[in-house]
Amino acid sequence: MTATVPPATLAAALDEITRLEGELAALRATAGLHAAILDHAPLLISTKDLEGNVLMANRYFNKLEGYEPGKFVGNNVFDLFPPDIAAQLWRNDQRAARERRVVTEEETVYHRDHSAHTYATVKFPLFDDSGEVYATCAVSTDITDTRLAQIDSITDALTGLKNRRYFNMLFMEEQRRAHREGRTLTLLVADIDCFKGYNDHYGHPQGDVVLRQVGATLSGALNRPGDLCFRIGGDEFACLFVTSVERESMELAERIRELLVQQAIAHEHNPGHGVVTMSLGLAFLRPDKEEALEHAYERADQALYRAKHGGRNRVER
Ligand code: GH3
Ligand code: MG
Repeated sequence: MTATVPPATLAAALDEITRLEGELAALRATAGLHAAILDHAPLLISTKDLEGNVLMANRYFNKLEGYEPGKFVGNNVFDLFPPDIAAQLWRNDQRAARERRVVTEEETVYHRDHSAHTYATVKFPLFDDSGEVYATCAVSTDITDTRLAQIDSITDALTGLKNRRYFNMLFMEEQRRAHREGRTLTLLVADIDCFKGYNDHYGHPQGDVVLRQVGATLSGALNRPGDLCFRIGGDEFACLFVTSVERESMELAERIRELLVQQAIAHEHNPGHGVVTMSLGLAFLRPDKEEALEHAYERADQALYRAKHGGRNRVER
């Protein structure tokens, strides 16, 4: 005996099939879109299980040194990367999984051409239907160029010291930091003596060499963490550093002056000295009051002016 299906039931079943086909088509379209995004995104996108085995890695991984498409998925992060890189990569996956939250970090990895690249990475947990973390996903953006541009924008190309722009940016921050610590911040300005005459006599390229030597003398003498040296422009330099007492700053400035003299760089047109020298002016920013950059700089500049007029190759405050 054959059962007959009522026409209404058949129609409902056909409707359901049509609906499911529609849903399937929509899911395929979504999956296709996601696959296309993964293939074309200029990002490293990957997922790992909770043991560190790679579940998925997108096409951008091709850029990485040591990456082989067939070998990547299914292998453990510690088998794929050198131990220090793997440990770095794995640490924050674990944190994201353990703390069930988004973790951001910067990672260094190597491209096929052996160049080191800095990536900004976000890592986040993936949850299964019961709300348990089963994997982590990492999305990494190459920020190497941005980082280099940032460094360039605050660096003086000739001496490698920080530039005036960075000095202006940092001044108030450094002042506040010193004040929080209850310490005096010293603003030191230094200017090479009779440098026009040096350029005229020895030539501009040789003048550039001297500028580099002076920069190295300053940063060599002020080499404690937190000490900052800048080339403000031309033959003018500035330094910011904290000391416990003003006498210590004066002694440091005196030592810097002396260190340049000891290099005995011949300078025929530096009357009374015969070698390259610089004059230094100091302004102290005491912890009990905040001072605008222009005002503090004016004070240091006046001290420098006194050093110049007192015969050059001197420190004044
Ligand atoms: P003073 O002792 O009063 O400072 O005299 P000075 O001749 O050093 O006078 P000043 O500081 O005004 O001169 C700065 C000179 O620095 C002028 C310019 O020729 C030189 N200069 C500025 N920028 C550069 C640079 O990038 N390279 C070289 N070689 N020289 C520079
Ligand atoms: Mg000068």
